[in-house]
Amino acid sequence: MSACGGFSKQAMEQAKMHPCYSEDAHHTFARMHLPVAPKCNISCNYCNRKYDCMNESRPGVTSEVLKPEQALAKFIKVKEAIKQLTVVGIAGPGDALANWEQTKSTIALIKQHSDDVIFCLSTNGLMLPRYADEIVELGVNHVTITINALDPIIGSEIYKHVVYDGVAYEGKHAAEILIFNQLQGLEMLTKKGVMVKVNIVMIRDVNDKHIPEVVKKVKSLGAFMTNIMPLIPAKGSAFEAYTQTSMKDIKEMRAICELDINQMHHCKQCRADAIGLLGQDRSIEFRECETNNDN
Ligand code: SF4
Ligand code: SF4
Repeated sequence: MSACGGFSKQAMEQAKMHPCYSEDAHHTFARMHLPVAPKCNISCNYCNRKYDCMNESRPGVTSEVLKPEQALAKFIKVKEAIKQLTVVGIAGPGDALANWEQTKSTIALIKQHSDDVIFCLSTNGLMLPRYADEIVELGVNHVTITINALDPIIGSEIYKHVVYDGVAYEGKHAAEILIFNQLQGLEMLTKKGVMVKVNIVMIRDVNDKHIPEVVKKVKSLGAFMTNIMPLIPAKGSAFEAYTQTSMKDIKEMRAICELDINQMHHCKQCRADAIGLLGQDRSIEFRECETNNDN
């Protein structure tokens, strides 16, 4: 892969067929998320992971958790049914890298079956410095990292705890470890030509005024775009009583940050098992509704 200080040629070619990385592509190309990553190694105060058999649509929600072999079988079924499928992503319901063996095996199995799939994964970034090289070797050219703060004091209001190498950390120290790894991992990936999208959850009176600083920093480390998303105060989460960020505030923040870096305007905040064109979820057609939640 030749990066030359920018994105690899393959990553740029693939981005044209990736519905999240190209606004034009999202009307034409489909993606599927394979829910093979149930565990998480941090605790965000806005998180409420949920296994359902209904139709709630937001990150962290899935109807099933799959083993890599089951994920391959589902991929084969979906590829047969949805001809516009170009992208397979691992987006939870926990963290792709906190379940690295499942994530890696799933991608490897699908690659053996079909060599034309574009892979992406999303992560909180805690384990990126450890796995960045393997991610590149696997041929994953698109990675999303959620980075909500650079300031550990602000981070300590967003993250309840971080479990790193078997030790649980809380407060400012937890946020320091997470932020250090996120930024280091981001730079490791972009230096190897990976296109990195940075998600930022905008939380009123917590990190909203800090977002332009986060955007400038991730740009300096080579990020391709940022996706500033509203806080959805999920029931049962620590932020349940917080105000949902308005789309007016999101649009204003994106307009400010667009002066620095590409902004994603078409994110649908999809489920961890979403399938199809963005905004036209077909996951219900492919659900078995048998949870396999023994990981
Ligand atoms: Fe939930 Fe994702 Fe945060 Fe983990 S990183 S706690 S899965 S929102
Ligand atoms: Fe794309 Fe946003 Fe959906 Fe992820 S959540 S697949 S970035 S539209």
